[in-house]
Amino acid sequence: MRNMGPMGSMRTVTVVGASLAGLYAARELRARGFDGRLVVVGDEPHRPYDRPPLSKDFLTGRSDEDRLALGDPEENAGLDAEWLLGVRARGLDARGRRVLLDDGRAVSCDGVVVATGASARRLPGPGRGPAGVHTLRTLDDARALRAELTAGPRRVVVVGGGFIGAETASSCAVLGHDVTVVEAARLPLIPQLGPEMAALCAALHRRGGVGLITGTGVAALRGTAAVTGVELTDGRLLPADVVIVGIGATPDTGWLTGSALALADGVLCDDGCVTALPQVVAVGDVARVGGTRAEHWTSATEQPRVAVHNLLAGHTARTVRPLPYFWSDQYGARIQFAGRRLDTDTVRIAEGATAGGAPDEGGFLALYEREGRTTAVLSVDRPRSFTRVRRELARAATVQDGTANAKEPALPREGEPAVP
Ligand code: FAD
Ligand code: NAP
Repeated sequence: MRNMGPMGSMRTVTVVGASLAGLYAARELRARGFDGRLVVVGDEPHRPYDRPPLSKDFLTGRSDEDRLALGDPEENAGLDAEWLLGVRARGLDARGRRVLLDDGRAVSCDGVVVATGASARRLPGPGRGPAGVHTLRTLDDARALRAELTAGPRRVVVVGGGFIGAETASSCAVLGHDVTVVEAARLPLIPQLGPEMAALCAALHRRGGVGLITGTGVAALRGTAAVTGVELTDGRLLPADVVIVGIGATPDTGWLTGSALALADGVLCDDGCVTALPQVVAVGDVARVGGTRAEHWTSATEQPRVAVHNLLAGHTARTVRPLPYFWSDQYGARIQFAGRRLDTDTVRIAEGATAGGAPDEGGFLALYEREGRTTAVLSVDRPRSFTRVRRELARAATVQDGTANAKEPALPREGEPAVP
């Protein structure tokens, strides 16, 4: 029997993007009792899989493809969704009632969840560049890169010292390759961590035996059939057999051009993930929710709860302002960050300070503070203390925002690192 009540008018919901945020949205729809037709469209040929291991244990060979799957066959059967995989959505009609597919089909629906994520940015130039040049976003990218990295020692240049850059450089070092990271900014990760803590993370590269060149960009790639080197804007030439480009990601909104949705570095949504059309919500890396686009695993799993609630309600009944959180594994260290910091915040080492007050290389906990309040927390290998402060921050944010629905983080969950 079809649902009656607020969701009675929703007979078909189409989720576009068959990955993390799309799967969580599909789960949430069923968990909230939506028993209509559920269609999930994904341009990759694969069922949803987890991306974080692609730059870490999958790349080093410590983990294999069968460990990447999100959900299991039993859950898949329970979701009772139609999976249209290997086909791209190319448009959304002006009222958001039809998703148009590349193969000529159109899915009529009453509600749409946009979950198309983001794509790896490429260096300027034709196509993908010469052989040996890689980006890392998808399972297919990771397979190709892993095949090259396990074929013997290589000279690897990593362009970009952000998350992809740092994690792949670390994995390449584990595999015994000769690795150099080139970062355009003065230091990697300054926007996320601030200069003091970014400097500590930069030091991890050196400890891991990886060269780090900062403050310079890439002028050109050398090599015609296969890459032979990277020419830097300061004139240096770095010989290379493999180049990994990790220079950021672009939200996949191209297919929504011409729809009624507002697009500006993502799909613009209110605090409840609701777009300009109440029957269309957006979640995950593609969504600019209340002005912010988060590109992290936890946001992609938290937003669907609120988005689906609002989709089924037909208006913004709930809002979300979760505490930003990410983790990263580099050179054997687990880095975790939560909160909203400003460049003017002071940073205090609360645990793991050396006698001289500097952070201990073996692990530390740093608190960002403003007017006597903790605004954010960074930890290197202090997961228990980190989780405690993260919970306190989430609780404080709930009180400040008055967002009764902002739940404390429930740790650990599928994909998120466990607290030992
Ligand atoms: P995506 O995972 O990008 O999925 C979007 C899906 O939609 C893709 O399958 C895409 O192909 C598909 N799609 C796009 N356009 C269309 C279209 N027009 N039609 C149909 N389908 C379409 N975050 C952390 O917090 N910690 C980590 O350690 C971490 N590690 C990461 C490591 C790697 C290598 C990568 C790439 C990301 C990592 N992240 C990490 C980020 C995290 O994985 C992303 O935030 C998360 O995947 C976002 O989920 P999403 O579903 O919004 O988008
Ligand atoms: P990113 O974190 O934005 O880092 C890109 C880095 O490359 C920035 O430091 C950027 O500097 C630098 N850069 C840009 N252009 C450059 C150039 N031409 N030459 C040298 N450096 C250049 O993006 P990413 O590392 O590519 O990651 C892609 C996506 O995956 C992001 O959404 C990221 O959040 C996600 N991801 C997350 C994790 C995690 O959370 N642990 C892990 C992997 C991937 P400027 O800032 O100065 O431009």
